[in-house]
Amino acid sequence: MPSVFDLTGRVALVTGSSRGIGLAIAEGLADAGATIVLNGLDPARLEDTRARLAQRFGDDRIAARAFDIVEEAAVAAAVESIETDVGAIDVLVNNAGIQHREPLLEVSLADWRRVVDIDLTGAFLVGRTVAARMLPRRAGKIVNICSVQTDLARPTIGPYTAAKGALRNLTRAMTAEWAGDGLQVNAIAPGYIHTEMTQNLVDDEEFNSWILGRTPARRWGTVADLVGPAVWLSSHASDYVNGQVIFVDGGMTVVV
Ligand code: NAP
Repeated sequence: MPSVFDLTGRVALVTGSSRGIGLAIAEGLADAGATIVLNGLDPARLEDTRARLAQRFGDDRIAARAFDIVEEAAVAAAVESIETDVGAIDVLVNNAGIQHREPLLEVSLADWRRVVDIDLTGAFLVGRTVAARMLPRRAGKIVNICSVQTDLARPTIGPYTAAKGALRNLTRAMTAEWAGDGLQVNAIAPGYIHTEMTQNLVDDEEFNSWILGRTPARRWGTVADLVGPAVWLSSHASDYVNGQVIFVDGGMTVVV
């Protein structure tokens, strides 16, 4: 009997998957059997990643589309071309996101809008474009990548905190409108993940010991820690899980 976590034959679009967390999730979904459509902004980096994954999984299992998740026409064209050339999208992971560190009093309106656009509006735009095709098929999985900042604030990351908090409620709004037609929309909220991007924080003794002291699991997360929850929320194993945010944070958000 196939596993309830098996994704063989499913098509998964993972936004922001040319590197980082999105890439790890894309590889994890491919390991579970899915055909993957990678996405990012930089076409050269995206092609490098596509070629690398294609060596492991085969060219027919790894596609790529470079587009900006906040450009409505580009999103529509990309989704159309994926459905025509790769297949109907079964799984969408809204992962692309950015950070901007500055005290709220100093954040320019342009920077505020850029963060809210990419971290919130992009998930709305790609989400509803894909959902419009999933709904008549009465099946589909959408996974929005939130953050511990969905629940907790910290100084100097106000726009990100606002956008990631709203992304939780967008997950609920999508659930309210689409769950009755067979879609499951959920979110993963990663804690502090040790990646290239956070290496400087790991190397910062003071910050590192604050993280270790603040995290019941007493370690940083790894991208591998996110793969199991992503496969679960993309598979039949989560068919009655609707509108939830799964915190993968070593327990950080449940203690003070
Ligand atoms: P990352 O390494 O900076 O990668 C970001 C990815 O998003 C890249 O593939 C980038 O493409 C793409 N991207 C950025 N803006 C885009 C746009 N407008 N349209 C399409 N693609 C775009 O980020 P990450 O650290 O892996 O984070 C991924 C997600 O996890 C984000 O939503 C982030 O908020 C969340 N998260 C991260 C952490 C952490 O510790 N890193 C913790 C909690 C939550 P290019 O390569 O072309 O630039």
